[in-house]
Amino acid sequence: MIDFHCHLDLHPDFARVVEERENAKIYTLGVTTTPLAWMKNKELTQHTRYVRAALGLHPQLVSHRAAELELWKQHLPETRYVGEVGLDAGPRYKSSLSLQKEIFAEILQSCARTGGKILSVHSVRAGKDVLDLLNRHLPPECGRVVLHWFTGGKKEIQRAIESDCYFSFNADMLGTSRGREIAAAVPLQRVLTETDAPFTKVPRIEPAVEILAQIFHVQSDEIHDSIKSNLRTLLNAEH
Ligand code: MN
Repeated sequence: MIDFHCHLDLHPDFARVVEERENAKIYTLGVTTTPLAWMKNKELTQHTRYVRAALGLHPQLVSHRAAELELWKQHLPETRYVGEVGLDAGPRYKSSLSLQKEIFAEILQSCARTGGKILSVHSVRAGKDVLDLLNRHLPPECGRVVLHWFTGGKKEIQRAIESDCYFSFNADMLGTSRGREIAAAVPLQRVLTETDAPFTKVPRIEPAVEILAQIFHVQSDEIHDSIKSNLRTLLNAEH
């Protein structure tokens, strides 16, 4: 079972959920929304085998937390995983979009300089802008990108595939026909699963896996193997 984007640290009992995930052998990427949360995440995932933490600066927080970019940069050498980062051009956050772009560009440049990072990227109503910045600042050989809950159009999906991006799908997204259309347009080799808990109505992996099995016309155990092998390829990629 793979949950490559969730917010474990927003759970009231963070330490317990890390332990539960570890015991259940769920490969989990716990993303963070502010670098202030990093130390606790680092501490709780230092000795875990299945749970990893990503260093983030969420685009929805950039309007009042842009100054935390310095702290984000300081912690970057401490992890291979970066997220949640990206852009949000939805009605509530559009006003900070140009600042978000500056911050995201700096984040990508830092990742490219260091090399070897794996990013979980948010792109609400900003698929094109996200891809433009990725193409400009983070060539695939300098880092790997997983587009989380991607909702871009056909052209953007194609561009993301050509840019070697992976896609993480959750049950809420796959519960909509648009979400299923997007999944159907992505090669199975680029598919991962996520819950985005606690921001989803169905914060479980199994329903997402079931729907993906239908979309790709394979059995559930086969889809499990494929997703696991995708994660292995992503983690072993030389970059
Ligand atoms: Mn999220």
